[in-house]
Amino acid sequence: MPQRGLACDMVVFGGTGDLAMRKLLPALYYLHRDRHLNPDTRILALARARHEPEAYRTLVKRRISQYLPQGDFDEQVWEAFATRLDYLSLDVSQRVAFPRLAKALGESPGRVRVFYLATMPELFASTAKYLASVGLADDQARIVLEKPLGQSLETANQINDQIGSVFDESRVFRIDHYLGKEAVQNLLALRFGNALFEPLWRNAHIDHVQISVLETVGVENRGDYYDKAGAIRDMVQNHLLQLLCLVAMEAPVHFEPEAVRNEKLKILEALRPITGMDVQDHTVRGQYSEGSRAGEKLPAYYFEKSVDHDSNTETFVALKAEIDSWRWAGVPFYLRTGKATAQRKSEIVIQFKAVPHRLFPQKGDDPAGNRLVIRLQPDESIQLSLAAKSPGRGMTLQQVELDLNFAKAFKRRRWDAYERLLLDVIEGDATLFMRRDEIEAAWRWVDPIILGWQNCYRSPKRYAAGSWGPEAADSLLERQGHYWLDERSR
Ligand code: NAP
Repeated sequence: MPQRGLACDMVVFGGTGDLAMRKLLPALYYLHRDRHLNPDTRILALARARHEPEAYRTLVKRRISQYLPQGDFDEQVWEAFATRLDYLSLDVSQRVAFPRLAKALGESPGRVRVFYLATMPELFASTAKYLASVGLADDQARIVLEKPLGQSLETANQINDQIGSVFDESRVFRIDHYLGKEAVQNLLALRFGNALFEPLWRNAHIDHVQISVLETVGVENRGDYYDKAGAIRDMVQNHLLQLLCLVAMEAPVHFEPEAVRNEKLKILEALRPITGMDVQDHTVRGQYSEGSRAGEKLPAYYFEKSVDHDSNTETFVALKAEIDSWRWAGVPFYLRTGKATAQRKSEIVIQFKAVPHRLFPQKGDDPAGNRLVIRLQPDESIQLSLAAKSPGRGMTLQQVELDLNFAKAFKRRRWDAYERLLLDVIEGDATLFMRRDEIEAAWRWVDPIILGWQNCYRSPKRYAAGSWGPEAADSLLERQGHYWLDERSR
C-alpha cells in the first residue's frame, strides 16, 4: 500500500481532553495503521497536566483501546504509533511557555505544521498570537479551530479578526465534523454524480425538507459550556446550517474549496431572516424536564451538573427556514435538534411532492410522494421510498424502500469523519471546512432568533427527557399540513 501524506508535525492543543482522546488520537491511530501518515509525521500533544511523555502514552493507550471497536486495537501497531507520539506540559494562556514549544518542534523546514486547537475557544486568539510570537505561524503552518466559534456574530468576528491577524484565511481550517461524514459526502455524490435527482431537486418537485439531529444523552459533563451556549449555538449555527447548505446549494463548477464554499455561502445569504414576531411563529425552543427511557429515570436539565437551577437555556430547537431563491421558493426546510430525546439520530429527509393525479389508492396514511432519507447516525445510509403495488388483488399502493446501506454495500471499514478531515488539513484541502464568511452569514441569520427569544421573556417549552421534544415542535409542522417523519409516523 502506498504511503500518503506530507511530513507533518501535528500539534494537538488540549491533548488530554475528551475530543483528543475520543476522536483525534483514535483517528490518527487509524491513519497511521492504514499507512496514510508519512513515516516522518510526529504528533505532539499539549495540555497543562503534568505527565512524562511515557505516562501520557500509557494514558492514550488505555483510552483509545477503550474507544476502538474490538479487534481494531493492535499491540504492534500501537508500538509503532507510540513512537510518533510525544507530550509537552504547557499552559497556552502564558506567552512565556511558547519558546518551549518552538524548541520542541525545532527547525523543520519543508514540514507541514498543524496546530489543532482542541481547547476552549477563549484560548484560540491568544494561542495564535503566541504561536506567531515564536515564529511558528509561518507559511508551513495551518491552524484548526473547533466549534463553537463565538457566541454571536460580534464575538465570532473578534476571534476571526485575531486569528486572521496571524494566519492567512487559506491556512485557517474551521472544522465541522459533520462535513467529514461519509453519508454527507454521499449526498454530494448523489446530487452531483448522478443525473437522476438533480432535475427534480427544486420546488416544482420537492414538498419540504427535514433535517434532524437528535441525541438521547443529556448535557453529560458539558453543563458549564452548554448552559451558556444552548442548542441553537451548539448545533443549529454550525452543523444544521451546514447540512442545509449541502442539500440546497447549486452545483459548484469544480469540487475544490472556493467553488464549494461560494455555493454554500449563497444559500446562507439567501436564508430569509427570522426576526421580530416571526421568531414566535417560526421557531420553538424547549428544555428537558424529568423523564424516563426504558424504565430508567432521567433528570431534568436544571438538575444536571454545572447547570444553573433557574436556567432558561434551550436544549431543543425546531424551526422553519426558508430560502429565497428560484430553486427553493415555497419549500420549507424544517430543522430540529435536541438533547435527551427519544432516539439518537441524524438524518435529512427530502419529501417529494405527490403525483399530480392519484390513480391508485394508497395503503396507510403515508404521504403519497417519494421520500429520500439520508441518514448520518447511528448508521450511515440512504433510502429512497417508492410507491409499489401491494401484493394481492387490486392496485393498492404502498411505500417500499430502496436501501443503500454503506456498511453492506462497501465491505471496507468506513472512515471516521475526523480521519478524513485530519488528512485534508495535512494536505491543505479546505473543501470540507468552513470559510470565515460562511460563519459570519450563519451568525447573521441566527443572532436575530436569539434576540427574539430574549425579547419575548418566555421560558423554553418543557418536554420530558426521553420524549420527541415539546408538542409545539409538532404543531409547527402541523400548521403547514406536515409532520415529523420519524419513528412515530413510520
Ligand atoms: P475538555 O475535555 O475540557 O478538554 C480541554 C483540553 O484543553 C484539556 O486537554 C485541557 O487539559 C486543555 N486545556 C485547558 N486549558 C488549557 C491551557 N490553559 N493550556 C493548555 N491546555 C489547556 O474539552 P473537549 O470536550 O475535549 O473539547 C475541546 C474543544 O473542542 C472545545 O472547544 C469543544 O467545544 C470542542 N468540541 C468538542 C467535542 C467533543 O466531542 N468533546 C466535539 C466538538 C467540539 P488541562 O486541563 O490539563 O490543561
